[in-house]
Amino acid sequence: MIRVVIVGIGGKMGQTLVAALSKEVDMRIVGGVECATHPMLGSMIGEGRVYSDLNDVIDRCDVVVEFASPEVTLKNIAIAALKNKPFICGTTAHNNLNEIYKFQFQIPLLMAANFSIGINAIYELLPNLLKLLSDFDIEIIEEHHRHKKDMPSGTAKRIAEIIQEAKGTKEPLKIHSIRAGEIVGEHRLIFVSSGERVEIMHQAINRNAFANGVIKAIHFIVNQKPGLYTMADVLNSHNRK
Ligand code: NAD
Repeated sequence: MIRVVIVGIGGKMGQTLVAALSKEVDMRIVGGVECATHPMLGSMIGEGRVYSDLNDVIDRCDVVVEFASPEVTLKNIAIAALKNKPFICGTTAHNNLNEIYKFQFQIPLLMAANFSIGINAIYELLPNLLKLLSDFDIEIIEEHHRHKKDMPSGTAKRIAEIIQEAKGTKEPLKIHSIRAGEIVGEHRLIFVSSGERVEIMHQAINRNAFANGVIKAIHFIVNQKPGLYTMADVLNSHNRK
């Protein structure tokens, strides 16, 4: 049985994870963490309660999963590292990644700006596609709900990075962002030549797109040594089985 603590448990991803993890026979939610003013504070969740401090529940878990706010990640990873607990970070838009990455030498740390299986599959196929469409113009369009704080999305930035790496260029790619309504998440890559157009589109229909990836990530991370892992490690290890 894998005992999980969710940081940001009252949020959109936190609540999606509560529903998704409760269907897993080998996982138990042993508590959650929320900001000090949150109405869920003190309420029962799974087999534990919602606390304002990860220190209050860290000893009871096997893994920490965070989908919260970028300002809190470093502190939470430091708490997990003191107790040798693996940490899965879904929170995006950090400006202190170098500080965060230092913890890879102490605990298994898994960071992904997008936990969906489909987006991670696109990351893998992109370098091959780029070889074949090397002369095409490329633009990226990303759409998210109006509450999303970062723009462009971490996923769009990662796609741009993969394209730059594959093309061996630092030339920035055009990323168009739309923030509207309750769009869960859509990414489109458009390749256009003088005579044709190729489009790759990924749509997160609902937040289970991410929760399904997090479940795979939890199974993966509890068996790892300290290190920095991505969803590519999770999916490649899963596909080898
Ligand atoms: P949300 O605003 O609905 O939820 C965030 C939750 O974190 C809120 O309940 C908030 O109260 C809580 N929080 C804030 N400060 C906290 C603190 N100090 N301690 C504990 N909890 C705190 O947002 P969301 O849509 O659930 O997204 C959360 C994060 O996850 C964002 O950074 C978002 O970009 C990211 N995200 C990542 C993926 C992915 O696949 N990696 C997918 C969706 C969202």
